Amino acid sequence: MSFFHTHMLLPFVERERHAGLARRMREISRFERMSEKDQRAIQQQRLQRILTHAYNTVPFYRQRFDDAGFRPSDARVDRPLPLPALRRDDLRDGGQSLLSNAFQLKDLRQAGSSGTTTTPVQFHRNIEALRNKTALQFQLNAWANYHAGDSVMTLWGAHRDLAMQPSWRWRLYEETLLRRTSAPAGFLSQEILERFRERYQKRRPKVLYGYSTILAAFASYMQQHGMDHKPEVIIATAEVMNDTNRQLVESVFGSKLFMHYGSRDTGMICAECSAHQGMHFHPWGCYVEFDPVRETSDGLAYRILVTDLLNDGQPFIRYDTGDCAILTSQPCSCGRWFPTASKILGRVSDGIMLANGGMVPGVSVGNHMSQLGETFRAIAQVQFVQKTHEHVHLRYVVKDKSPLADQELQTICHAIDSLANHRMEWSLEQVADIPRERSGKIRLCISELPSSDTSIANSTPELLAQSRT
Ligand SMILES: [Zn+2]
Repeated sequence: MSFFHTHMLLPFVERERHAGLARRMREISRFERMSEKDQRAIQQQRLQRILTHAYNTVPFYRQRFDDAGFRPSDARVDRPLPLPALRRDDLRDGGQSLLSNAFQLKDLRQAGSSGTTTTPVQFHRNIEALRNKTALQFQLNAWANYHAGDSVMTLWGAHRDLAMQPSWRWRLYEETLLRRTSAPAGFLSQEILERFRERYQKRRPKVLYGYSTILAAFASYMQQHGMDHKPEVIIATAEVMNDTNRQLVESVFGSKLFMHYGSRDTGMICAECSAHQGMHFHPWGCYVEFDPVRETSDGLAYRILVTDLLNDGQPFIRYDTGDCAILTSQPCSCGRWFPTASKILGRVSDGIMLANGGMVPGVSVGNHMSQLGETFRAIAQVQFVQKTHEHVHLRYVVKDKSPLADQELQTICHAIDSLANHRMEWSLEQVADIPRERSGKIRLCISELPSSDTSIANSTPELLAQSRT
């Protein structure tokens, strides 16, 4: 752990997110060293605290708890909360009634839900929550031996590649002081992957941190084009990583991968430990319930319902993340009792392929949707189906029959065109619902291109596998 980074640099330069970082990390470490009994007792206290706070200061929950005849003092961490799940529709429709009146709006920070969800929403967090979530993420990184100040290259789904042509200030801070190298993959092509390869070879990062499908594409590119440096740590996040991609990444880079699970809505809440026997939900940050949904070929799938123990500004109580987990009851050899998923079934997305071989990764489409912010007022859900290299079919669910819907659809199509830097042909279809697939997966983007047409699919085995089935 770099004392300089956690005690001085980050809390000073990025104060909003990192004030008190070292103290917060010490608190989480202390929690992790406690006995299971004490950890469960603390989780119980924290659960009752957030529920009481929600009841006292959030009109939406006061109503909801009263309707259910539920009192926060009745909550127990060993049984389900007798309350309805909080859905994305509730977030979108509830507006200000979901915010805690203990805060002024100016003291809350707005963000958009992330990844490849078909239902983008906006939500708020108080600054303490932001700082505690950041500290928890640092702690989960530390499980993988990734510490503040370690050199890292991040492969993520940003829109434009601003960071590929950084200013000298950005370079000094990001690259020299923080040792972070950015590889933003809002759009992927052989040329962009080659730029990533050059950066990687030059910076020789200890840690490779990235969105699952982008990591897989990069691994495949590196396998074909060669490298003379291996990272010590690989962390994959934001999307489900299938077994084929995982094996590819691990064999190309020569080390075991750590899967992290979370979202912008909840923050990072779940991670693989160094025993690699599953992913642990961290009880300091959340109380998770698992609601059985259906049998799958991997076992019984459960909906993941998260009660966020950190966000007082807009409490999330029994929040339906839209993802499912397969659980394991085998104790992990690391000794943690934390709820453990052997697999997360959830966000999976094909990319949108262009005839010139470029691709917009599905996770970048999702991120871009969430950045549209307030756009989604009349449109409740979207799903993109690529029919040909030129033609994308947009399925959508309308929440309100308002003239806004047409405008919003236009904005969405235009956003994808701008991401791809190409004008696609669009067809639109209103549907009643966008269902989860039998496998338990929800897909934002579906490719109907034959596998021979998915030129970059050679670099993303997941796409290749999906287009074959
Ligand atoms: Zn473990």
